[in-house]
Amino acid sequence: MKKFVCSRCGNCCRWPGAVKLLDAEVDAIAQFLGMPVEKFLAEHTEITPDRQHLSLREKPNGECEYLGTDDRGLARCLIENVKPRQCRIFPEKWNFPGWEDKCSGGFQ
Ligand code: SF4
Ligand code: SF4
Repeated sequence: MKKFVCSRCGNCCRWPGAVKLLDAEVDAIAQFLGMPVEKFLAEHTEITPDRQHLSLREKPNGECEYLGTDDRGLARCLIENVKPRQCRIFPEKWNFPGWEDKCSGGFQ
């Protein structure tokens, strides 16, 4: 069975849509960042447009707050160990319309 291999272009983290958070993920990310849950909620999350979920805030340029780069310039998630499920299951089990045109990874 083919396995998806990410090339770490970072384009999925620049997609202009919500990165939804589950309750347990809020706690895990706040703990990982070493900040009180209330502070993380107030400063780093927002309500999705449908008012049904919390999501991660974006930088002014639209990319996820936690998108960084490594010393080779490749995309790196700054909360990799606790990143939301939506990120962990992309693109096989969750994706967005047109993702194939943005993603430089592939199945091998
Ligand atoms: S949490 Fe990490 S993997 Fe998810 S969108 Fe943000 S930078 Fe990308
Ligand atoms: S868009 Fe695809 S190749 Fe680029 S970081 Fe996301 S999963 Fe990896």
